[in-house]
This record gives sequence, structure tokens and C-alpha cells, in this order.
Amino acid sequence: MPRKRSCYGVSGRSDLTRHPGGGRDLRRLGARESPEIPLSAGMAEFGGLEFLRGCADFGNDMTSNSQNLDVALGFTIPQRNARGRFVRLGLTLDLILGAHGYPSVIEKLLAEAIVLAALLGSTLKDEAGQLTLQAQAEGGAVELMVADYKAGELRGYIRHSPERLAEMPADPSLFALFGKGYLAITFDQAVTGERYQGIVPLEGGSLAEAAENYFGQSEQLPSLVRLASTRLPDGRHVAGGILIQHLPEGEEGRDRIHTRLDHPEWDHVRALGETISEEELTDRGLAPDRLLWRLFNEEQEVRTMPQVSLARGCRCDPGHIRGVIARFHPDERAEMADEKGEIHVDCEFCAKRFSLDLLSIG
Ligand SMILES: [Zn+2]
Repeated sequence: MPRKRSCYGVSGRSDLTRHPGGGRDLRRLGARESPEIPLSAGMAEFGGLEFLRGCADFGNDMTSNSQNLDVALGFTIPQRNARGRFVRLGLTLDLILGAHGYPSVIEKLLAEAIVLAALLGSTLKDEAGQLTLQAQAEGGAVELMVADYKAGELRGYIRHSPERLAEMPADPSLFALFGKGYLAITFDQAVTGERYQGIVPLEGGSLAEAAENYFGQSEQLPSLVRLASTRLPDGRHVAGGILIQHLPEGEEGRDRIHTRLDHPEWDHVRALGETISEEELTDRGLAPDRLLWRLFNEEQEVRTMPQVSLARGCRCDPGHIRGVIARFHPDERAEMADEKGEIHVDCEFCAKRFSLDLLSIG
């Protein structure tokens, strides 16, 4: 049984707040307005120096795409007891996916899994903690999918059957990809050494839906998850995602005695969140805070947390591997070595092979 917990940090810094008019009106969800009032407008009354710095950053978003990529932005909507996270990745994905050469269907799946790992991992209170997403499956094209997050660094890989994938349509369903599968989400706390894990069947139409099921079943937290990824004409990857959750009757430290999946204030937040499009999630030109403004500008107050930078990262450096191998008994090390006296260690995350000379260890 997964343990109940609260791994998420919500710190108060009021960057966004009320904006009159121009909102995403639930009565006309089809009409997608473009906000002309920047997020920072009308906020001076709430601001201090910290706030003003936020405004300066915002102004630059219009000229630089790169700062809209490889970032996570946390937010809360206090009056609705909601919290959320937005993530968009660019170069991080180019580096991770570039190491593998997967077919496009597998690339898209891994890109979205990595965004999901970033959405969950970047909310960890314990900054040195690790979040691991692992999908194990049989009967589909994917056998194993792993994505993890640690201290702003992301990595991932997918083991799959190219033969099975070749038999599938261009846009296979989640079931076709995974067959009978399970999604395990593991939080390793660095400070306490504790590990929490929740497991749910990989069901539903998408990875995002499976993640929503995880939160509903494992955490009893009403959640909205949206994930999208695309490959641009220039070959670069962009993927984005949003996670919005309802925390009825206060955020932390209180029993969730009133948790209900049909809470009206959650229905409202969810309905607004659901209007987000795949294009918005993956639009390099759209700053994360501007996207939040589009979604929630009619709310009384939306607070954002400082943006977190994300990057590709792996712990497989030769020194680390040498240290791990050195802990084995010399006889075991000898068994690991090939006829040339070399020990080969593969990092599946990086699709890299490390070769160590047996005589150089110990
Ligand atoms: Zn590696």
C-alpha cells in the first residue's frame, strides 16, 4: 500500500494577481482570446522589489524563446484551493532523445513521460530528492519506460520492440503501446532516506490520463494532467505539460476530510485548465506566466513561485561507475570482465557504454 504523504512545497510569492476583463470565459470556451494586457499589468499595488524583478523578466519573454523552454513554474490559486505546475522542455529533450534514435512514436511517448517526471519532481520539497516514473508492461510495443528527475536534471529511456511497433498504426493507443502495464511513481527523499511509491494500472487514453488516475487512486487528489509534445520543422523537440490539483479545505497539515471529486470550485478550475491546447503547451513563444494568465486571469489571485530551470542530466560518469565496480569482490570483478580484461557498463539512459580496465580498479 502506498503511504499517504505530502511531498509538495507551496511557497507564497504573489506575482500574479487579479486582472480585470479579457478572461477565459467558460461560456465561450471555443473562442480563444489573446490577452493584450501583460500579466504584470495592474499588479504594482501588490508588488515589492521581488515583484518588480518578475515584471522585468516577463518583458523579455517576448524577444527570447529560450527562456520559455526547460523551465518549471509552480503556482497556486488560493481562493480555489488549487495548486499547479507548468513545464516546457526544449534542449533537454533534444539531448535525451538525440542519444537514442527512437522512432517518432516512442520519442513522443518518452518526451511526455519526461515532462510528467518534471511536473512531479519539480514540486518536491526535498530539493535533493528523486522522482522516478516507471512503466512496466507486457503485450504491447513498450516493455519498459523510465524517466526520472533529480535536482532539476531529467533523463529517461524506453525499451521497446521495433517489430511490434511496425505492426501498429501511426498513432497507436496507450493500450497498443503498453498492453497490460503498470505505472509506478516513486519519491525518494534525500533528507530522510524514505521512499514512497504509488502504482496504478496504465489505463485510459493517454499517459496524462494514467497520471490523473494515479493521483485520484493513490493520493485522493483531484487532478488535471495535460501533456503534449511536437517535433518542429527544424528537427527540434518541444514538449509541455500542466498539472493542476485541488486541495480541499486548506493545503497542508490538515486532514483531507472533505475531499470530494465533484467539488464545485474544483470543477471551475478544472474547466479552465481543460481549455489549454497542445499548441499552447508546446508554443516556444508563449511564456509560462503568460499562459497561466490566459487560463486564469479572471481568478481573484494566482500566485507563482520562482521559475525552476531544468536540464538533461545523468549520474553515469566514469568516476561513479568505477566506484560502484570497486565495491565488488575482486573475484566478482574478474567474472564481469571480458577476455581482454575489460568491464563494460551500459547506461541505458544515455545509450552509452563505459569500458573499464580490470587492472585499473581496486
Ligand atoms: Zn547515463
